[in-house]
Amino acid sequence: MKNSISTPIPYGKQHITPDDIAAVVEALQADLLTQGPRIAQFEADFAHYIGVPYAVAVANGTAALHVCALALGCEGKKVLVTSLTFAASANCIRYAGGEPDFVDIDPETLLMDIHRTREKLAAAPSGTYAGIIVVDFAGNPVNLQAFRALADDFGIWLLEDACHAPGGYFVDDKGLQQRCGNGEYADLAIFSFHPVKHIAAGEGGMITTRNAALAEKITLLRNHGLVRDPQKWQLSTDDIAQGGWYYEMQELGFNYRLTDIQAALATSQLRRADENLYLRRKFAARYDSVFANTPIQAAPFAEGNAYHLYVVQVNNRAACYAHLRSQQIFPQIHYIPVHLLPYYRQRGWQRGDCPHAEAYYDRCLSLPLYPTLQDDEQIFVVEQLMAIAE
Ligand SMILES: *Cc1c(COP(=O)(O)O)cnc(C)c1O
Repeated sequence: MKNSISTPIPYGKQHITPDDIAAVVEALQADLLTQGPRIAQFEADFAHYIGVPYAVAVANGTAALHVCALALGCEGKKVLVTSLTFAASANCIRYAGGEPDFVDIDPETLLMDIHRTREKLAAAPSGTYAGIIVVDFAGNPVNLQAFRALADDFGIWLLEDACHAPGGYFVDDKGLQQRCGNGEYADLAIFSFHPVKHIAAGEGGMITTRNAALAEKITLLRNHGLVRDPQKWQLSTDDIAQGGWYYEMQELGFNYRLTDIQAALATSQLRRADENLYLRRKFAARYDSVFANTPIQAAPFAEGNAYHLYVVQVNNRAACYAHLRSQQIFPQIHYIPVHLLPYYRQRGWQRGDCPHAEAYYDRCLSLPLYPTLQDDEQIFVVEQLMAIAE
């Protein structure tokens, strides 16, 4: 067995090129470090990449979820959300005064179970639920067309947490590729630019939509609810409004702005998005082929998978995790089902509430997958895992 790999192999890692560094240096030398032209440039480039009319950049993915939950509204209501996600997908409902109702996964796709979602909606008095939050888990795209039809049947909103899936797509019933976050079916979608995600900005987030009114509302919430356009002032005839300095705060907003430094890095990273997606898919295909006919259950395959993570399932997960770490390979566990975290247990959730997500959690392991992973490193990971997996 080969043991020539001396550097640690993480599950995910950013890749910073000389072009990225040059873009950041240029941003640092510009007049505006924040609220400058690089934000609008990144928004336009990202909107073009996803194929969506509106993209609003914010400080991080969690801020994106927060402003979406506020703009869509869920005060005093429940919102359906998958239990197999990062806690932020559910926490945004609490920020906006709602209560998450966790839905189990389909064990085949690892995505939110649409049948279970429909059962919950059908069993509750109308007005109980405000919306649905789906997650393209590990990069595997949700069929948003089906969820849109369900949301419409019950008159509620649909939010796509697409943090794992920039560049991913599902195929709709007309045979068309629908890119994650393109707003064709979901009311709003969100992305993160944390360094383990596809596009690294240090921190950063984006909201995408086809709905102009929602985009405007979110733009307000991102910047303290401040309105500078005289056409939109409420007190334009009042004597306090007489002067060029005047602005209005019309909503209770936040400072959720991205900086121009981050936007410059993200814009530069976005130029390599297609190339990096190709590499993620190439490494995933290799894992798929070597794990066929072994005890290792490979990640679910879907045509438009963007492969943020490569997730396997094994029966002796703890032993695999410990062995890989002893070999300087650092897998991760995605995720502890959100309903089992202490904060949500205190709100009444317990083991048994989402059995498929819990069974998945007991066996899952996220293997190294990132564009700069080397072939010999991937082979080493495979050899080490195959030596121990049951
Ligand atoms: C990373 C992530 C978030 C949060 O994004 P941040 O930028 O870290 O705030 C939300 N949802 C999912 C599914 C994520 O993976």
